[in-house]
Amino acid sequence: MMHRALRRMVALEDYFEDEETRRAYSYDASGAEGLPAVIVRPRHNEQLRRILVHANRYKLKVIPRGSGTGTRAGAVRKDALIIDMRGFDTITRLDTQLHTVDVGAGVTVAALARALEKKGYHFPLVPANSVATIGGLAATNHVTEESQLFGDWNDLVERAESFDGLGRFHTSKGKELDKVLGKEGTTGVLVTLRLKITKQRARTLDVFEVDNPSAALSHVERLSHMRGVLSIEYLDAAASQLLGLDKEEHLLVAYTSDAGGYKDIVKVESLLAARKRLTSTLWSQGYTHEIEASLEEEQIERFAARCKQAGQPCYGHIGLGIMLTAAKDTKAAESFRNGLVSIGAMVGGKHGYGRLLHDYVPDQVRKDVRKLKEERDYNEVLNPGVIV
Ligand SMILES: Cc1cc2nc3c(=O)[nH]c(=O)nc-3n(C[C@H](O)[C@H](O)[C@H](O)COP(=O)(O)OP(=O)(O)OC[C@H]3O[C@@H](n4cnc5c(N)ncnc54)[C@H](O)[C@@H]3O)c2cc1C
Repeated sequence: MMHRALRRMVALEDYFEDEETRRAYSYDASGAEGLPAVIVRPRHNEQLRRILVHANRYKLKVIPRGSGTGTRAGAVRKDALIIDMRGFDTITRLDTQLHTVDVGAGVTVAALARALEKKGYHFPLVPANSVATIGGLAATNHVTEESQLFGDWNDLVERAESFDGLGRFHTSKGKELDKVLGKEGTTGVLVTLRLKITKQRARTLDVFEVDNPSAALSHVERLSHMRGVLSIEYLDAAASQLLGLDKEEHLLVAYTSDAGGYKDIVKVESLLAARKRLTSTLWSQGYTHEIEASLEEEQIERFAARCKQAGQPCYGHIGLGIMLTAAKDTKAAESFRNGLVSIGAMVGGKHGYGRLLHDYVPDQVRKDVRKLKEERDYNEVLNPGVIV
């Protein structure tokens, strides 16, 4: 009865309650599982609005979903109504004067890159996974290596259109963006984003051999006074080897200018691409449980020591204070994360918290989202179990 009404709100080919499709939507890249009740794929605002109004009436649990590449179980929940946002797949208004483009939340990273490349532009934050959607990335306020220069999604979204949990439409700009970006679909469903784009430029690179993370940090201090530093990545000996470097610790510094010693475009791009693939490369070697931490400078050396002790790789956006490692199973990952908490480090900070890292959400973040939910989703239909 509840679902029969939903069937009339989208086209027949955009409504699914069959077992096979429900199974296909029952997991994401985190490996968590939960068989949803029904999946709908709206293609325009009015369809989405009606779905959300209906969900409120019957208190259905609604999960907005992009491509399901999230590694934090944010887009999976048993018995939920999944809203597959990939129907919002248009790219419009590429403005070469203002350097902006309007992008549907369901557009994939690959599709956006293709459209922008034709005009000599790109979106500066480049995630490792090209099937992820723009909505999923903005919802998790995804940080990449390039965030060193360009910041996060709050810095690169000029305007966001969304529907809140009650089906009300919002256009957010400036400070208001904070109410939906990075909130992992708990306060609204993103439909269209106006993104700031930049002209494509050739990149150069420096590769410094370092003795330890502290030595890397003294480079970071020097680099912080330079213009055009695109990314600053630390790699321990194991991670370095996977990039084809010597078995030493390294600092990889990319520039949007010709400041770097490596200028051969093929070599530069291949090293940067290998860095981008590093999480996947480690995954294929059995390190399937990525762990990220936002660290104060004085905690970075301790993080690296803990990785060494656990026999895990150590790498990451050292210039941003975000370091990464990966464990081979859930138990090892949990024990590592708990060890981080015991040294006062913040677990997370790069890919969202989802359901997987629910226990690690900082109190202030939880408090802020609770307050926003009172305003935007007081029936608590949107992504329950995530953040709050
Ligand atoms: C091999 C691999 C490598 C990866 N590497 C990286 C990496 O280097 N850096 C990184 O940051 N991430 C990485 N990821 C994680 C992933 O690409 C991102 O987390 C991405 O944000 C997920 O996008 P998605 O479209 O698949 O979203 P989903 O997984 O479908 O959803 C993610 C979250 O966003 C919410 N959401 C989705 N769409 C919307 C919307 N329109 N409105 C509101 N909420 C929405 C969902 O409810 C969920 O909470 C990697 C994943 C894999 C599998």
